[in-house]
Amino acid sequence: MKVIILGAGLAGVCSAWYLARAGHQVSVLERRPAAGLETSFANGGQISVSHPEPWASPSTPWNLLRWLGRADAPIRFRLHRADAAQWRWALAFLRECSGRRSRRNTDAIARLGVASLHALRALRTELDLQYDQSARGILHLFFHKSELRAAAPRVALLASYGIEARLCDRTQCEQIEPALAATRCDIAGGIYAAGDESGDAHKFTQALAQACVARGVDFHYDTRIEGFDVLANTMGGVNVIDAHGMRGQFRADAFVCALGPFSALLAARYGERLPIYPVKGYSVTLPAAGGAPRVSITDESRRIVLSRLGDRLRIAGMAELDGFNLAVDPRRAGAILSRARELFPDCGNSGAAEYWAGLRPATPSNVPIIGASRIRNLYYNTGHGTLGWTLACGSAQLLAACLDQRAPEIDFPLWT
Ligand SMILES: Cc1cc2nc3c(=O)[nH]c(=O)nc-3n(C[C@H](O)[C@H](O)[C@H](O)COP(=O)(O)OP(=O)(O)OC[C@H]3O[C@@H](n4cnc5c(N)ncnc54)[C@H](O)[C@@H]3O)c2cc1C
Repeated sequence: MKVIILGAGLAGVCSAWYLARAGHQVSVLERRPAAGLETSFANGGQISVSHPEPWASPSTPWNLLRWLGRADAPIRFRLHRADAAQWRWALAFLRECSGRRSRRNTDAIARLGVASLHALRALRTELDLQYDQSARGILHLFFHKSELRAAAPRVALLASYGIEARLCDRTQCEQIEPALAATRCDIAGGIYAAGDESGDAHKFTQALAQACVARGVDFHYDTRIEGFDVLANTMGGVNVIDAHGMRGQFRADAFVCALGPFSALLAARYGERLPIYPVKGYSVTLPAAGGAPRVSITDESRRIVLSRLGDRLRIAGMAELDGFNLAVDPRRAGAILSRARELFPDCGNSGAAEYWAGLRPATPSNVPIIGASRIRNLYYNTGHGTLGWTLACGSAQLLAACLDQRAPEIDFPLWT
């Protein structure tokens, strides 16, 4: 079957790989000059199977109130009066905060996360992919006794999905990550998930795109998707414009929408309302110094992650609902860096820091949208929010099974 993938981020390139391997003739359309240049460019780098809990949880509404007006608030809503999609998303997000929904969403993400990590490892071995990967696990740090008390049931929940995690006191945290010996923070304890990994999502996306090309996938870069030809509930073609202003159309038997935060905007053109809204986050990348951690770290109080990517340290965090605005707020990005320096005073040269902002393609539940659309031959692999790197390979396997009408190996609520 001839399949066209829309978008060459993590979701699009992984979809291309698994569909090409299943024997399909695959093309990818991407507006940028290469793969992985938007949200998949400089994320936190964590393959965080041990963090399936979505942002929307029973404690979140209270935390949102507590964080109001704070420059370092981990989550910030900037509600725009005229942005109806934002209001709809915010209300749906609050609905997902109930205990029942939060458990259901955690369950779906945990199962997909476990399968995805297996798929990533198999792919890495098969293709010898190099992306500054590290398999030293993730250490989640807590700074308050109350957070640590809540960690024990979390470890038990993770164990029920086969996710390896153990509670640690401060000394054990320092044994796992010796650079913590210099910390200025008062660490109460942590959870260590030894099976988790980290790596550069951008390098991975580019390496996998090359492997796709070797397998016969053709990538059309500098190709902006402008609209769709839909007739009798069937997508006939995708209308594009290239970097020289030349218009054209690509036709195929099936299409996969993997447009990240732009998926909902494009879906609206053929009349489908997807619950995806861009949620901005920041990252700071530094040349790593002697006091930088080697184990990937999650600061559970500030919701900041740190990942060692070869000789660089990536620090990422913050969540802002502010439309498609990609401006880096120096106070917010600076707060991430200051916190990293409190945790690891000699972590790197701040003078050489590179600042970046990206838009997470977020659903209110943080459960991605994978499956068939309302249009007969159009499928989705999008809406991965905070976990698009963690869930990339498993999601693409699910998508491929769905498109081939095979029973998926992962128990996951597919979009219908
Ligand atoms: C600060 C931050 C930290 C993060 N940390 C982590 C982490 O540690 N672990 C983790 O698992 N996840 C993390 N994430 C989430 C993860 O990065 C995303 O979920 C993931 O990158 C989304 O991939 P995607 O392919 O869906 O979107 P994208 O990478 O944005 O890909 C979509 C592609 O579609 C293209 N496109 C859009 N519109 C058009 C058009 N009209 N025509 C042609 N092409 C178009 C874009 O150019 C883009 O290349 C983080 C995100 C952020 C912002």
